[in-house]
Amino acid sequence: MADTSTPAAPSSPSGCLSQEEVSRLRSAQAGDVPEELARHLAGCDLCQERVLFGPARRTRRRREMPPMPSSTRALVLLAVMAAVIVAFFITLNSLVGRL
Ligand SMILES: [Zn+2]
Repeated sequence: MADTSTPAAPSSPSGCLSQEEVSRLRSAQAGDVPEELARHLAGCDLCQERVLFGPARRTRRRREMPPMPSSTRALVLLAVMAAVIVAFFITLNSLVGRL
């Protein structure tokens, strides 16, 4: 295992390129890369991102889901909706006459 004890580097999964290898790849000319590095890079999304975008791991923006309403709030909402529906039918009945 190539365990380079660099505290600043983010913890990378075992088998991935070290920070030195990534910086070597970034500064290398096309086609002038050691074969084992290129071989790993071809099959590893994480290392491709590190080489393309730098060591800072891009965090994808994740949309925050709204919290579920509490059960009392849900019951109050249901009661209000039922009252509105009942009021609608009462109003309709008084406008149209007997249904
Ligand atoms: Zn990798």
